[in-house]
Amino acid sequence: MTNAIYFGKFLVTKQVFYQSKYSYALVNLKPLVPGHVLVVPLRRSVISLADLTVEENDDYFRTVQLIHKFIKLHYSADSLNIAIQDGPEAGQTVPHLHTHIIPRYRLNNIGDRIYNLLDEWTYEDWQSRREAYITAGGRNGRKQLAKPDDQRIARTEDQMVQEAEELREALSDFQKGDLKIS
Ligand code: AMP
Repeated sequence: MTNAIYFGKFLVTKQVFYQSKYSYALVNLKPLVPGHVLVVPLRRSVISLADLTVEENDDYFRTVQLIHKFIKLHYSADSLNIAIQDGPEAGQTVPHLHTHIIPRYRLNNIGDRIYNLLDEWTYEDWQSRREAYITAGGRNGRKQLAKPDDQRIARTEDQMVQEAEELREALSDFQKGDLKIS
């Protein structure tokens, strides 16, 4: 993983813990829960799922499934949310396709409020459509249940690099078959 890898305008090379031919997985700047990671196509001009070529799409969903299996095992999750917010009206804030992989648990389950939390992330430069969506209320009915993005603390680069190293090593064991899914 020597080449610079971008998530939208962000340089995220050190946060990447898996890379395939056309895709990669990275640790999140502001995870909703531990183990909330993102799967992204390497090509930056892919904003929407519809922008993937057939070959990229195949590689992308293989990667989503691999990271799904790995994160479920590594974080002992009972379930996972696999979410794509495709377009600003759907809550997308970084104009580069990404799939959220979010561990969920039987205990302390917050149900569908996870989608409010996903919805709270804001990114100032992402076009006026996003602002119009927010102004119009977004997921207005349930917004008060979500923790506002400015109350979630961004992690330091060191924290993210450390997590990426741990996940890279654990994923490598997982791929060798040293770890098994229950
Ligand atoms: P969405 O609202 O679906 O576009 O999700 C954007 C996601 O990107 C959120 O989970 C953010 O925490 C995450 N994010 C934003 N900037 C970065 C970054 N520089 N590195 C890692 N994750 C990021």
